[in-house]
Amino acid sequence: MSTDVNVTVYARRAPSWDELHAAAAVWVRHLDHRQDGSAAAILNETGELPPGAAGEPLLRAVLADAVRAAARTGGAYDPTILPVVRLWDFDAGGRLPAAEELAAAVTLVDYTAIRVTGALALAPGRQVDLGGVGKGAVVDLIAGHLAERGVERFLVEAGGDLLVAGLKPGERRWRIAVQHPRGDALPLAVLEIGAAGERRAVVTSGDYERYLVVDGVRYHHILDPATGRPARASVSVTVIAARAAEADALATGLFVAGPAGLRWFDGDPGVQALVVTESGGALRAHATGDFPVAAGDLHLD
Ligand code: ADP
Ligand code: MG
Repeated sequence: MSTDVNVTVYARRAPSWDELHAAAAVWVRHLDHRQDGSAAAILNETGELPPGAAGEPLLRAVLADAVRAAARTGGAYDPTILPVVRLWDFDAGGRLPAAEELAAAVTLVDYTAIRVTGALALAPGRQVDLGGVGKGAVVDLIAGHLAERGVERFLVEAGGDLLVAGLKPGERRWRIAVQHPRGDALPLAVLEIGAAGERRAVVTSGDYERYLVVDGVRYHHILDPATGRPARASVSVTVIAARAAEADALATGLFVAGPAGLRWFDGDPGVQALVVTESGGALRAHATGDFPVAAGDLHLD
């Protein structure tokens, strides 16, 4: 997943890190379409993944989350974006695709091509890229693994995707600094989250993580499925939800939609979100009413 995963636990006994590492390596592989023979690669190549295939239950669960997030974001998050992602080739340093290439590729993006009930299948010509949900999914899987082994207080973090379980010793909440999208002297915000017996995920996506610069213009890796080009509506978004996979996919979609996407969460007490926009060099914050940091307490300069 091109990132490190950090796991912090507070427990009487350390879990077996080797066992966790081995399990996580399998999850990561199956969700990565670039790995030969992975569940995602087989689905993309053949258009289906038979029940009983290695990684099938895992890929099904993640695709179900992905499809749900795609529907909720009106396709701003769309896991079938691979034909577009390929054109930009960020993995190899990036290239600027031609307008005609992008126009052709966006016609292939359509999450309704994914079938998650019955045998896993993809409509012909469609291909999935779980880059916008996979890190979160692996964070959730690690959380489940630890919980099954009796660990109750922990933090899992994978490059901007983070999940806390329970409280820290002394029944203290976790303090999570959210990266400032333009400077690093001060964090954008410090969130205090966590409750006994509960999991909470915080996912931040920004335009500063992976990008290429051509003629002074920055092209980053969160793409608008409507145009095939880097989304410009936001510079950073943070989504808090019960599960990291959900928060991850929603954050990618919210990044694409910008502040207009905040209404997706109206009436849902389970999701809190923040969008930072940039205009004329100035940053502005937009958030759901229940976001845990007040707008005035954000460091926007
Ligand atoms: P990060 O984890 O780096 O903050 P995201 O979670 O937003 O980034 O995921 C970005 C990745 O998701 C891209 O590298 C690409 O593989 C894929 N992607 C880009 N745009 C979209 C989109 N609109 N919908 C779904 N996946 C996307
Ligand atoms: Mg994401």
